[in-house]
Amino acid sequence: MFRGFTEEKNMINIAIDGPAGAGKSTIAKKAAADLGYVYVDTGAMFRAIGLYMVRKGTNLEDPAEIALNAGGADVDIEYKDGEQCVLLNGENVNGLIRTEEISDAASRVAVVPEVRKKMLELQRNIASKHDVIMDGRDIGSAVLPDADLKIFLTASVDVRAERRYRENIAKGMEADIEEIKQDIRERDERDMTRSEAPLVKVDDAIEIDSSYMTIEQVVEKIEELAGNLK
Ligand code: C5P
Repeated sequence: MFRGFTEEKNMINIAIDGPAGAGKSTIAKKAAADLGYVYVDTGAMFRAIGLYMVRKGTNLEDPAEIALNAGGADVDIEYKDGEQCVLLNGENVNGLIRTEEISDAASRVAVVPEVRKKMLELQRNIASKHDVIMDGRDIGSAVLPDADLKIFLTASVDVRAERRYRENIAKGMEADIEEIKQDIRERDERDMTRSEAPLVKVDDAIEIDSSYMTIEQVVEKIEELAGNLK
């Protein structure tokens, strides 16, 4: 189970949901560091399961096969120097889950109820023990419906594609802007239309469109909103 912190009660939970590339992880990480909360990147958990399925040669078009194989994937989280490490059957896979192949695999395994159930239990367990900023797709709607603050962070497809393009180029990876746009549209579509815990903006979430805001401006806005929670 979750390691690295001691148990406490009455934790503050902040949920940040939104589509791929809206800046959730960068922003949530900064805000968590400033506020002294634990940052939980739930996408990384689905990515670890995606990696497991790719390694196993699972047919990603077949939810039944994914569900069957999910039993062999033990995902856990630990923190080293404040950094979230995702463990897949004990192996730190942080360095292996940020490729386009694993992004695609993650969004395919994420439609499978058995996978979501496992992740939801892990996520709730962490949130019950720590003040967290947790980012994902279904945090405000399904994982932490009673969260103290819910943010829905969006940006236009063009802006999100442009950001991913620049990230890839900076990492020395090949990048094609049209391919990235297509990939973002497909992932949005899959995340928003799946029957199990789709990406939605819940009524009590505050929407922030980051298209024309800097990272610092969004972080500031969230910290302002979080300011009176404690
Ligand atoms: O946020 P990130 O892009 O790392 O997430 C990878 C994929 O995992 C998403 O496209 C989505 O399909 C899935 N996911 C999810 N629910 C979450 C977080 C991520 O379904 N809470």
